[in-house]
Amino acid sequence: MKRYTFPGGIHPKENKSITEDKKITEIQPPDEIIVPLSQHTGSPSKPIVEKGSKVHIGTKIGEITGFISANIHSPVSGEVKKMDTHPHPSGGEILSVFITNDGKDEWENVSDRDVESISGGDIIEIVKEAGIVGLGGAAFPTHVKMSPPKGKQYDTLILNGSECEPYLTCDYRLMVERPEDILLGGRLIARAIGVKRCIIAIEENKPEAIRKMEKIVGRYDFEISTLITKYPEGAEKQLIWAITEEEVPTGGLPVDVGVCVQNVGTALAVYEAVKYNKPLIERAITVTGAVKRPSNFKVRIGTPFKELIEKAGGYLGIPYKLISGGPMMGISQYTDDVPVVKGTTGILVFKEETNSLVRTACIRCGRCINVCPMNLMPTKILAYIENGDFSNAKELGVLDCMECGSCEYICPARRPIVHNIKLAKLRLSK
Ligand code: SF4
Ligand code: SF4
Repeated sequence: MKRYTFPGGIHPKENKSITEDKKITEIQPPDEIIVPLSQHTGSPSKPIVEKGSKVHIGTKIGEITGFISANIHSPVSGEVKKMDTHPHPSGGEILSVFITNDGKDEWENVSDRDVESISGGDIIEIVKEAGIVGLGGAAFPTHVKMSPPKGKQYDTLILNGSECEPYLTCDYRLMVERPEDILLGGRLIARAIGVKRCIIAIEENKPEAIRKMEKIVGRYDFEISTLITKYPEGAEKQLIWAITEEEVPTGGLPVDVGVCVQNVGTALAVYEAVKYNKPLIERAITVTGAVKRPSNFKVRIGTPFKELIEKAGGYLGIPYKLISGGPMMGISQYTDDVPVVKGTTGILVFKEETNSLVRTACIRCGRCINVCPMNLMPTKILAYIENGDFSNAKELGVLDCMECGSCEYICPARRPIVHNIKLAKLRLSK
């Protein structure tokens, strides 16, 4: 069987065995839910409730404000307690809707549609109304991705089941526990974007997911592509290259090479939205690392991290670092009071510094260049940035950097490459 891969990349210790056998268990939402009005790429949604508004599960509370934006819905039934800013897992303080949960779990509007008779255009409208965004972490609004710009079209759909970040296993569990619903969602996406070729891509470190999918892919007209386990395999451009050997042009989009990539969790959310009229009010996440009972949970959006850490048995020892997401591209948190948002793939706790190497000057070993999946020269880019020469850093493609961290991971001198690249991007955006 062909095994697919891409140039560059690294193979960090996976640490998936901690949770890969943990079934996704549903967590009851807490007494208070905090729902940020910005949980997606693009402009924040506009609040359409106020203090005292009564809501059900699925009541729209935030409305799309621009072309790239997403609706937001209440994950519980109850009453809006207040609107206020609150720490957000992506950083900063964001206007959020605080909802007191009445515990009744009353839904706004449920249905059981015949999904076979729904047109492609209606599927996109339902996905837009349901506030679905990419659940692999990027949180790009799905209805926008499903609507290619004029003059462009898709010919291939890839469902992304690579989950290449170490520690995270929630996508794996979804593939093991809900394989049919994922492929049904994939078929709906394929109908909406008008493609015939549908692939589900899974890294070979997930044999159980591959086995489950192998049994049913024929029924849903999907192929399986098995990927060599490597980070960052799940990044859109790397995944497309691995499977099609097509390169998304600099500054371009996957649609430029005719490929639409959707995370497996997103496909499941699309199925549930189309079939049951269910907006995106919950998701699967992995809570792992230095907690007493590492777990996979199904949680309502807006549940504070600290509630989930408690459900996972609490901290194991004194936490040193709390990360939203995986260890490579996740974001460090200064408080566990932040809520789960649509793009939260995991909560990772470290109880001690995991990399004890000492920072030194660059030894010009070139390892960062060898592993960069974007074919950049991180050492040279870093040198320019450290000299304040942002224009030459731009010439060397700093804006193409996807901040995957592979260069920094491999660097024996522990050079702070990604931090400086983020800084340069910020400076160049002004
Ligand atoms: S330069 Fe950017 S894209 Fe290349 S390895 Fe480093 S972080 Fe990843
Ligand atoms: S890996 Fe580190 S030490 Fe080696 S060339 Fe790159 S920045 Fe320099």
